[in-house]
Order: sequence, then C-alpha cells, then structure tokens
Amino acid sequence: MADILIVEDEFSINELIRKNLNLTGHHCTQAFDGLSAVDLLENGKFDLIVLDIMLPGLDGYQVLERAFGTPTIFLTAKSELSDKLKGLSMGADDYLTKPFQMLELTARVEALLRRTKKTETEFILGNMRCDFVRHQIFFNETPVECTPKEYELLEVLIRNRNIALSRDKLLDIVWGFDFEGGTRTVDVHIQRLRHKLHLEEYIKTVYKLGYRLEV
Ligand code: CA
Repeated sequence: MADILIVEDEFSINELIRKNLNLTGHHCTQAFDGLSAVDLLENGKFDLIVLDIMLPGLDGYQVLERAFGTPTIFLTAKSELSDKLKGLSMGADDYLTKPFQMLELTARVEALLRRTKKTETEFILGNMRCDFVRHQIFFNETPVECTPKEYELLEVLIRNRNIALSRDKLLDIVWGFDFEGGTRTVDVHIQRLRHKLHLEEYIKTVYKLGYRLEV
C-alpha cells in the first residue's frame, strides 16, 4: 500500500489510473495540472508519482524538479522519445509510452515501489526497532506481540514521520475505504502502540486532526 500522486491533465486517463491503482490497494491523489501537483508535493509526502509530461501550468519536468526525490514514472506520448531520455536523465525512475496497458502501469508501479522500499528495511527509535521485511517490532531486541493492524499503523506513521496524519487518512490507509468502524478505532490502536512500545513522547496527538510520529 502506497500513497501515489497521479499528475495527468486528461481526466479520463487520470481516472482510469486512479481506479486501477486503488484496486491494487494504493491510495491515490489526483492533480490535473502542474501547479497543483507542485502544491500537493510541497504539502504532503508521496511514495510514488505517475507524471505526465505535457501539462497545463508547469510541465512534467518542472514538476519533477520539485518532487524532492520521490520515485517517479513518466508518461510520454509515443512521439516524444527525446523526452523520455530527458526525463530519465533528470531523475525519473521509469517511463511508459502512451497509449499503455493498465496492467503494465500497475506492474511498473509495483516494481518501482519494491526497488525504492528496499532502501529502508528497518527503522530504529530509541529502544524500538521496526523490521519492515519481517513485519516485526522489537523492543530492546525482544519481539513485541502486535496485531497486523497495529503493525501496519506503526509502519504508516514511520514512513510518514514528522507529518500530521488525520484519523480519516489513517483509517483509509490501514483499514481501507470500506471499513465500517469509526475513527475511534484509530485512537484505540494508537493508545496500544504508545503503551506497548513506550512511544508516548514520540506519537503526538495533533489537535482536532490526528497523529504524528515526531522524531
Ligand atoms: Ca497531457
């Protein structure tokens, strides 16, 4: 599960990408022009960007310059071979030529996510260690019993550390859009994580919004 920004001015293509990435379990944010894409990048954290080149406002290259190293897949029209090369030399990680098969896009997205997540296999905070490969949390190197949801919630907080996450966003990411319980579920799980892992001073409550892991 990843947070993906889709930047594509053609509404129908943008929607199609969103639906397919939603189906593969990802959370998508959509932008339809370059300026709003940059705005979203400055105010949020994404695991991956699917980025069209020809866009109103700022073009894909200008957006990429402000992507702060976020893994990026460029979408280019077939005629724009030199654009692909330019995109790759500027730091895009992959590209797809339009028109493309949705299955190819989702496969490339998964491959790029796997590649980029490899760089972070664990996270250490004080006496707590979170092993992203084994999905196991340790305290003083002793495994801590956690439910899958508790683990997932902690991983989301870690991967978005220092960013305030609303209860609704946490619900969407960890429990999914169709979850029928309320945001109280998030509060209960946060309390358990704080207690079990002694993270009271690190998992901050953000007034009227949600939570932030502060490191
Ligand atoms: Ca376009």
